[in-house]
Amino acid sequence: MILFKRISDLQTHLQKLRQENKTIGFAPTMGALHEGHLSLIKASQEEVDITICSIFVNPTQFNDSKDFEKYPITIDNDIYLLEKQRCDILFLPSVNEIYPNGKELKQLYDLGFIESILEGAFRPGHFQGVCQVVDRLLEIVQPDLLFMGQKDYQQIMVVKKMIELKNHKAKVIVVPIFREPSGLASSSRNMRLTNDEKEKATAIYQSLIFIKENISRLFFVEIKQQVAEMLMNSEFQKIDYIEICNAETLEPLEKYDKTIKLVALIAAFIGEVRLIDNMIL
Ligand code: AMP
Repeated sequence: MILFKRISDLQTHLQKLRQENKTIGFAPTMGALHEGHLSLIKASQEEVDITICSIFVNPTQFNDSKDFEKYPITIDNDIYLLEKQRCDILFLPSVNEIYPNGKELKQLYDLGFIESILEGAFRPGHFQGVCQVVDRLLEIVQPDLLFMGQKDYQQIMVVKKMIELKNHKAKVIVVPIFREPSGLASSSRNMRLTNDEKEKATAIYQSLIFIKENISRLFFVEIKQQVAEMLMNSEFQKIDYIEICNAETLEPLEKYDKTIKLVALIAAFIGEVRLIDNMIL
């Protein structure tokens, strides 16, 4: 694997590859890599000639400065995992390299409704920061395919919208959620959980299964009430949302309609750690 810290070096290398007609797949991450991230790398390796992973903890997408400060950094292990997975290129830029003219957003992305709900409502500014960094990374890397995890369901919709707004050529490939044997969705934030909390955190997955099994049987208000109880009984202290939405538009729904594809999404805190998960129903 070749590691690049500078954009100019990466781009010189990529130019050569493009002259050889190599196709390029890109998986942007914030590091603290786990099997979920590696599933993006594997998916890319099946589709393209050259796979690039980036690790950049993007300061502009953290609405909570404590969350940013506590974000796990495990770069040596990340490099080891990427080498083992035979990733071709790691791009590891500094903040100055990504934001040479300062971190302030120069222009708002017009994301519309999708930014106003769920993560958008609970993490103001988060998706603007996500768009800012993915826009910049796409400008630098110019991949053919962009690999993103279904784990961040709303983020995929936001990034697709940004790609449309900015006319990037990359096509988004959605990779299914990688789960631990317990059902807990792999996440860098899981590193901040104790073993006991990790076990209790599986209540999110169990809640999503409960929703899936009862979606056509119970009223949505009833489902949400029962799920809130399940989470609270598993020591989740704070629930940001439990929503059942149209899977194409993310519009929250009140009642079952078998003609609409649905997705259930949950965000909740266990200890100080905020976890998100979702399931297509
Ligand atoms: P992050 O490092 O958390 O910003 O995530 C980088 C990419 O990995 C995003 O596209 C995530 O959706 C994806 N990802 C994170 N966790 C998982 C998972 N458990 N399964 C699949 N993809 C994931």
